[in-house]
Amino acid sequence: MSYARVLCVGLVGVTGHLVEVEADLSQGLPAVVLTGLPDTALHEARDRVRAAILNSGEGWPNRRITVNLLPAMLPKFGSAFDLSIAIALLAGAGELPLKALDGVVFLGELGLDGAVRAVRGVLPMVAAAADAGIRRVVVPRANAREAAVVPGIAVGAVDTLRRLIGFLRGNDLLLVPPPEAGPPPPGGPDLADVAGQELGRIALEVAAAGGHHLALVGPPGAGKTMLAERLPSILPELDDAAALEVTALRSIAGVLPPEGALVRRPPFEAPHHSASLAALVGGGPGLARPGALSLAHRGVLFLDEAPEFAARTLQALRQPLESGRVILARARGSTEYPARVQLVLAANPCPCASPAGDQYCQCSPGARRRYLGKLTGPLLDRIDIHIKLASLGAAQLLTATGPAEPSAAVAARVAKARAAAAARWSGEGWQVNADVPGPFLRRPPWRLEAEATASLRRGLESGALSARGFDRVLRLAWTIADLDGRDTPGAADVAEAAQLRMGDAHDRQIRP
Ligand SMILES: [Zn+2]
Repeated sequence: MSYARVLCVGLVGVTGHLVEVEADLSQGLPAVVLTGLPDTALHEARDRVRAAILNSGEGWPNRRITVNLLPAMLPKFGSAFDLSIAIALLAGAGELPLKALDGVVFLGELGLDGAVRAVRGVLPMVAAAADAGIRRVVVPRANAREAAVVPGIAVGAVDTLRRLIGFLRGNDLLLVPPPEAGPPPPGGPDLADVAGQELGRIALEVAAAGGHHLALVGPPGAGKTMLAERLPSILPELDDAAALEVTALRSIAGVLPPEGALVRRPPFEAPHHSASLAALVGGGPGLARPGALSLAHRGVLFLDEAPEFAARTLQALRQPLESGRVILARARGSTEYPARVQLVLAANPCPCASPAGDQYCQCSPGARRRYLGKLTGPLLDRIDIHIKLASLGAAQLLTATGPAEPSAAVAARVAKARAAAAARWSGEGWQVNADVPGPFLRRPPWRLEAEATASLRRGLESGALSARGFDRVLRLAWTIADLDGRDTPGAADVAEAAQLRMGDAHDRQIRP
């Protein structure tokens, strides 16, 4: 028999699909033909596979070799197919027992010397194999630990093609994945370290409870970054499905944490304002790398000094914020990664960024307006909470009494509030208050008592508050009521919510 079939996995976004690699060897002019919609990396695979087989001490079959990857319609990126192509080819040539290949998925890139090299995306590939009922997978040694995270599938690791060939012939052993290095280090930054900054803490808690995007404006030293970094510490831990998705995105990006466990804490990504568009949204040749937007999926995307980001970069965030997905146009088809993020923007009040705030600022009113004006438009429209933070003076630090409340205590309130909101909107398919469209909250049965919204309606009539601003205050009022355990927001909740909108003056200031 001069035919063999071996299993592999191809990735489309974060979803893996089983790929059958067929090899057929026939009489004819010696040649290798690869079919099945391969990208350039697959053509390079032909040369790598040949060199690796020869350098593993095996003969090269001098026949006409056809390698076909199925399903043909599935776009195939990256170099993880090398190992399965080599095994299919050797088995087709009668060099390996076909029975040993039955129901096994092979993943890995080959070096010219026959070494098996790590590939990106092994975690979602192995998860897909397990879902498809596969019970054994062979992966590069460097990927063994992440593969072992997936339950219900036996992981064998290899360092060389020679070892794998030996194993399949029954005279060598696979390597055993190293044990998990234990749970990830606890914590991360905690709110207990933030003295003072009362308004900032409240804004952070409300943002966490309602899933609201947040904008922090204040001079350097006001603690904007300190607050933003602590948002993940008060968000709920990721459930199994979300943890797998978040860890899979890190696997595809090649930035898995060293302990080799599922990521349970909502991620925090803070791309620099000089970051390229590709670094932010993703891209690159072969298997596209997820950008910061997708690495922040189910967590926090923090844009410090947001007005310094290029306008087209900020513009590129709009669509993903709306849809929760990033779509990367590729030469062949497109790649889609999830990007459901909570956005935190931070900005100095003006371009000079004087630490003392307004006191020594020499920027003209026009320059200040233009600076924050860069954030206007649809991006800012998505942000429910806008607050202005004062510089933390010595006086404020001294009057802060005792240690500040730790993240765990705040997280408990946030979890309760989120549960209340999720229960209320369960029939509508929304999880958090930030998902709820404004008009919905203005209609019965969710319309608030006239007396609760009297001040807002006055603002609306005088033109001090926009209709969108009105809706945002309503959303925030619901979150504040959820945090305080009330069924319906009252006038006090609405008033507190209005404070988290930085006042109408700001609205006008940043939207000239
Ligand atoms: Zn200034």
